[in-house]
Amino acid sequence: MTRQGIAENLERVQARIADAAARAGRNPADVCLVAVSKTHGMDAIQAAYAAGVRHFGENRVAEAAGKVAAARERLSGDVMWHMVGHIQSRKAADAAPLFEWVHSIDRPKIARRLDGSLGEIGRTVNGLIEVNLSGEESKYGFDLSRWPEEPSPFEALCKAIDGLRDLAALRLVGVMTMAPYVEDPEVVRPIFRRMRALREALQERYPQEPWPHLSMGMSGDYEVAVEEGATMVRVGTAIFGRREG
Ligand SMILES: *Cc1c(COP(=O)(O)O)cnc(C)c1O
Repeated sequence: MTRQGIAENLERVQARIADAAARAGRNPADVCLVAVSKTHGMDAIQAAYAAGVRHFGENRVAEAAGKVAAARERLSGDVMWHMVGHIQSRKAADAAPLFEWVHSIDRPKIARRLDGSLGEIGRTVNGLIEVNLSGEESKYGFDLSRWPEEPSPFEALCKAIDGLRDLAALRLVGVMTMAPYVEDPEVVRPIFRRMRALREALQERYPQEPWPHLSMGMSGDYEVAVEEGATMVRVGTAIFGRREG
């Protein structure tokens, strides 16, 4: 993808987010576009930066480490890095200095590990709890596939959250999901609606703590996600083109 191509793609994605927000009576400024740059090199990241992107997403700690270091050298300091992929427990310490946001808090253990590592280096990070609403086995996250038909998965999630209330450096501020890949994004609209209901249920359960963020929507379905209330969309292919491998 050329620099020009990335700039054009970005403009199209931003326009579609604005249109989707308008259809839902929302302010497009309330939707953070995270450009998922995984597998793409620094040239692509610099092109997106030049076109105005400030939030980048990565899904592997080791790959992100190189890019974060390069960006700190080559770009001015206003870039925010978002971890969107599963983090192995033994990689928590490596992840701690890299990201401002971690969307993939998919089990209590990683929350604790990250919080401990963040505390050691004196950083605070925003965390989103990853949930699996579709029941697809390939997906990480707390299993809420039977919710809301059954209350027990929500109770199990709250129990996990209760066990994490003493975290000091990892601030839990929302929920994230990956919808199944489908041709027609209308098919996953009910999943995004359930995410919004989940955020409301959490807000009701924990009225003292804000749960403002809904991270949902990727290249194939971000417009529907914005219509249904996404505050963060994670878009890779529609900005950077196809990934290799
Ligand atoms: C790769 C990835 C994305 C972006 O996917 P695209 O379909 O390329 O937009 C979003 N979220 C997560 C968790 C990812 O791993």
